[in-house]
Amino acid sequence: MKIHEYQAKELLARYGLPIPPGSVAATPDEARAAAAAIGGTVVVKAQVLVGGRGKAGGVKLAATPDEAAAQAAEILGMDIKGITVQRVLVAQAVDIATEIYLGVILDRTAKAITIMASAEGGVEIEEVARETPEKIHRVHVHPLAGYADYQGRKLAFDIGIPPQLSRDFAAIVRALVQALVDNDGELVEINPLVITQEGAIQCIDAKINLDDNALYRHKDLAALRDLDEEEPAERAAREAGLSFVKLDGTIGCVVNGAGLAMATMDTIKLSGGSPANFLDIGGGARAESVENALKIILDDPNVTAVLFNIFGGITRCDEVARGIVSALPSLARRVPMVVRLVGTNQEEGRAILREAGLVAADTMQAASQEVVRVAAAPQGAGS
Ligand code: GDP
Ligand code: MN
Repeated sequence: MKIHEYQAKELLARYGLPIPPGSVAATPDEARAAAAAIGGTVVVKAQVLVGGRGKAGGVKLAATPDEAAAQAAEILGMDIKGITVQRVLVAQAVDIATEIYLGVILDRTAKAITIMASAEGGVEIEEVARETPEKIHRVHVHPLAGYADYQGRKLAFDIGIPPQLSRDFAAIVRALVQALVDNDGELVEINPLVITQEGAIQCIDAKINLDDNALYRHKDLAALRDLDEEEPAERAAREAGLSFVKLDGTIGCVVNGAGLAMATMDTIKLSGGSPANFLDIGGGARAESVENALKIILDDPNVTAVLFNIFGGITRCDEVARGIVSALPSLARRVPMVVRLVGTNQEEGRAILREAGLVAADTMQAASQEVVRVAAAPQGAGS
């Protein structure tokens, strides 16, 4: 889960990081009041959960409170990468001398927390990684010994931070690592971390991604979820109690059990197709979950066929079949469906499907080959 810049800054300020004062505003009047309270030049920043706001025109300087109100009026309601700006952060502006990139990630490949720093700050780090990967410097945090300040000082040296700021930099890295650990973060990123004209370090942007699987132990952070900015399909699925991840293929999958979902995606690939999603309706799924799952999947215009792969244990095949059949009349569109249904009450399930004119495949392999075939066939060309 991502949280907004202003929320990330509030959290990081508690770790003593140097963050320019600011407050969030939902209207131009609130932005004017915020700017007046801060005094001097401020920066007005769109709060949306995507990067590249600066390039999109969502970050503007304002010298007076009236100007801040005018900039807020421009930015509020603006569309940035498909998201409408609902709030702006009004923060004290800083005079920038140098922009640096600093990020701390939970690095599965390295099996450690990795700290990344680059003198090429301000631009998107993916771009730096692609074009000049040698400009990103990394150190790993030892899982038992933890972060040591010499690691931060080494990074400071590597990216050319003036020696007199090296200790400050190392302390900032320490605080970011601590924030990542305490809050079960996957990423804590300051881009840019700046050296000001006065020669101090300031964090002028902040990004935090949290591990969804650990949110249960951070109720206060879980409450920050911005429902407006979730992938609509993933939100609908979460609200319906389904595990769902959208992918970019053409075959919708309805499966019970995460392991079976993985195996199903593999078999589809093996048969030459590509899955449009990962969807687990769970054990003991009722007809209603099946209906919800189908609606969510068919909302994706890329989907040209659907595969049901149900292994009935606690889940009863007749219940699933009933769900499929009862969903049919209300579906926004029809695509070919292939059903593999085995286990508890499979005969009843197949009979229900047969009555509705749907055929159940016998094996997982046959089902995946069939669904790949019908997904590729031009619409309306038979079965
Ligand atoms: P992003 O584009 O979404 O990553 O938003 P950022 O918060 O990183 O801001 C983008 C750019 O705006 C930064 O790289 C800076 O160049 C500029 N910027 C942001 N805040 C300030 C500020 O306080 N003063 C000045 N002069 N520039 C700023
Ligand atoms: Mn940034």
